[in-house]
Amino acid sequence: MATITANVPLLDGVFDIIIDGEKIVSVTPSSVKTDLYAGPTLFDIQVNGYGGVSCCKVAEGDTAPLSKIRDIFVAQGVGLWIPTVTTNTHEELLDIFSKLRDELDADPSLEKSIPGLHLEGPYISKMDGPRGVHNLACVRPASWDEFVQYQEASGGRIKYITLAPEVDGNIDFIKKCVEAGVVVALGHTDLDSESMEQAVAAGATLSTHLGNGAHDMIQRHHNYIWCQLASRDTYAAFVSDGQHLPSECLLSMIHAKGLERSVVASDCCKLGGMPAGVYGCVEKLPNGRLVATGTPNLSGSSSNLRECVEQVVNLTDLTHAQGWKLGSIQAAKAMGLPDKLGIEVGKEASVTVYRRPDNDYKIDVVETWVAGRKLFSAE
Ligand SMILES: [Zn+2]
Repeated sequence: MATITANVPLLDGVFDIIIDGEKIVSVTPSSVKTDLYAGPTLFDIQVNGYGGVSCCKVAEGDTAPLSKIRDIFVAQGVGLWIPTVTTNTHEELLDIFSKLRDELDADPSLEKSIPGLHLEGPYISKMDGPRGVHNLACVRPASWDEFVQYQEASGGRIKYITLAPEVDGNIDFIKKCVEAGVVVALGHTDLDSESMEQAVAAGATLSTHLGNGAHDMIQRHHNYIWCQLASRDTYAAFVSDGQHLPSECLLSMIHAKGLERSVVASDCCKLGGMPAGVYGCVEKLPNGRLVATGTPNLSGSSSNLRECVEQVVNLTDLTHAQGWKLGSIQAAKAMGLPDKLGIEVGKEASVTVYRRPDNDYKIDVVETWVAGRKLFSAE
């Protein structure tokens, strides 16, 4: 049994949070004055890699990539996260999912931090712009047989898939995924209002990094961004690293979608947490921006979710509590795991304790708890 006494911005007061086993068993108001804060741990639904380690290109000799990222993330207040595997050949995807499975099978505690895997592509738009940096040669229409093989290779852990619904055959594929309990998100897509409607009717519930994976120029009234913003039946994830979306765009999109339907995610990759420099075909600029080497073209994010939560507050009119919610409870809801996070009796004891220096948008992480275990302590 452990007690955390802290300001809880989501509940607007100081509370004693009692943890027993994996759960929160009591939350009661406290009269103690403290500079500590607590919230449901941050939950990053889109992680390609971090700290020099990739989730989607597990190199030879690169052992335990997920544990390495988990250990870095808990120090950032990010207790839960979803590794992302991007478009690749059939053989490579099978290989990557089986390697991730091996690591998860070998360390059951990892699964407390990683409640699922994300397959982003290969069933996306072939079009330049929406396709982003996904390899054109590997983009293809959805195949249920192929997906079943990935699901088997992963040990049934693919919980989230990003695809383009306008591609022939993909609506039927969405229905099968939803029946199998997989969250279907729209992304890297050139959808129109009709394919949006069909996707939602088939059970799609989320947009991946809305506003990115898109053309530089689009028709002002009829385009896939408005269709997805207007949907009242789907969540949308926004990459709020300060690079992917300008502040006025981020603010407008979050309010158009609505706070109850918005999520922030990092989309961070291997170069996150690494020093500036040229790393083969990707360059990390001193301001943290990742570009295709020698070009201005964005090539992933280097910010972790703690930084993205800070920036969504810094760059928009959201309060600290609203920003925290978009990076925690909203992420859990979008992943179909509404009972996982919250400072409430019966919720999983996955909690981040932190300070707010100068009471502004910055967050200094003090402790990170995942399912009742303290995985990080700064003091
Ligand atoms: Zn993407």
